[in-house]
Amino acid sequence: MKLRHTIADRVAGFVRDWSLPRQLAGEDPTREAAQSTMSRQLRPRLEEADTIGTSICPYCAVGCAQLVYAKAGNVIHIEGDPRSPINEGTLCPKGAATFGWLTSPQRLTKVRYRAPYSESWEERPLGWAMDRIAYLVKRTRDETFVSNLPDGTPVNHTLAIGSLGGATLDNEENYLIKKLFGAGLGMVWIENQARV
Ligand code: SF4
Repeated sequence: MKLRHTIADRVAGFVRDWSLPRQLAGEDPTREAAQSTMSRQLRPRLEEADTIGTSICPYCAVGCAQLVYAKAGNVIHIEGDPRSPINEGTLCPKGAATFGWLTSPQRLTKVRYRAPYSESWEERPLGWAMDRIAYLVKRTRDETFVSNLPDGTPVNHTLAIGSLGGATLDNEENYLIKKLFGAGLGMVWIENQARV
């Protein structure tokens, strides 16, 4: 597949379009570009980036590709990757907000737990939270599992637990969810925002 733009193309485009007078960008050297002093002093907005990484938008299963610009180890900008055949450099409003939520001081980065009947939140380790979820799911399943209906029909299910997935889940995750929750635990209510 032919890539429509490379990063080098983009950088060259920034330089040609924004950062230098035309005579320095290879056009007629005898002509002065019609630019104000302020325009001449403008620099590409991402010139300070020392690293450009790639990522995938975490919001939905469309899987739009992103370019992640960093300076001294800190992310300074995220935008669509024009090389991607999926989004060709674009991002929807959710994906375009990735940098904002990634760097928001309000972003929760630790597990918060509110015990039954408690009025306050506590911070807990992620491992503790995963173990507790697994324990409660297994306990509920064992307490509510039905092997046969009253007329003897075998069902091997529980109607006490449900699973609602989101569009961020990929094929492999949905396969495992269906296999573990349905065939493994006997859950009937397995649904997904994207109707797998
Ligand atoms: S949320 Fe938007 S930008 Fe992100 S993958 Fe989905 S369509 Fe693409």
